[in-house]
Amino acid sequence: MKFEVTILGSSSATPVYNRNPTAQLLNCNEKFYLIDCGEGTQQQLIRYGFKANKIDFIFISHLHGDHYFGLIGLLSSLHLNGRIKPMKIFAPAALAEILELQFKHSETVLRYPLEFVFTQANIPELIFENADLTVETFVLNHRIPCTGFKFVQKKRLRKLMVEKLEAEQIPIEYYPLLKRGVDLDFPDGRVLLNADYTKDSPAPRKYCYCSDTLYDERYFESIKDCDTLYHEATFLHEMLDRANQTHHTTALQAAQIAKDTRAVKLLIGHFSSRYKVLHPLLEEARSVFENTDLALEGSTFSI
Ligand SMILES: [Zn+2]
Ligand SMILES: [Zn+2]
Repeated sequence: MKFEVTILGSSSATPVYNRNPTAQLLNCNEKFYLIDCGEGTQQQLIRYGFKANKIDFIFISHLHGDHYFGLIGLLSSLHLNGRIKPMKIFAPAALAEILELQFKHSETVLRYPLEFVFTQANIPELIFENADLTVETFVLNHRIPCTGFKFVQKKRLRKLMVEKLEAEQIPIEYYPLLKRGVDLDFPDGRVLLNADYTKDSPAPRKYCYCSDTLYDERYFESIKDCDTLYHEATFLHEMLDRANQTHHTTALQAAQIAKDTRAVKLLIGHFSSRYKVLHPLLEEARSVFENTDLALEGSTFSI
């Protein structure tokens, strides 16, 4: 099952040096989940060959403009392009008010429903579940209410050893039971042990998204043991005072967090406009956590 994330933008605050504000597209089993929607997100979707209408779920971490200024444009374009299926939006409650005002004064009545799920920035919550994954929020420490998102794949059914089953002429109607891990008792007294005919499916994978936050151990429990951790790393560690003042994290801190929470891989992003080149941030993070990459636009990472 495909579980991968494509970076659409990873700039903080303003678009600079051809870098766009934050947005990511998660593909889980060919369903598309947009995470934050900075200005220019719909252009970025076009640039990297994604159809915006395939997105059915949008997650907004907080209401700083670099995380949602692209939303009104994206939603308007979907309307103009004839979308009728609902769009589910997970976001702080005030976002509904902001969008309503924008639509009201442009006299736009969307052809499709927006279905809001309001996030709470004080307690972690399970906010979504379908056959493929669950999504939980966790509480980040930023200047305004801000949540991170944890996407966890569901455990898949067991894998059948089809050749063996066919060789022994096991009727196909038993396959669903075997996939669920059941041993089979046949009327003639034969017993077919599940473990001899199936294999365990791969362990479910986890993606954690930490958009804007101060270093704060209170959310570490929520993100522990993730396969891919995206963490903001707005500044180099020499700018720690500035990071603390603005409620952001340094590359060194992001790497320490990845190490302490036992992430397998770290992606860093939300780069300050003061950095024209990004390799010093990468080198700083790698000095603590080797398996780090820059969340560069257009890059797709398998989780
Ligand atoms: Zn930001
Ligand atoms: Zn912010």
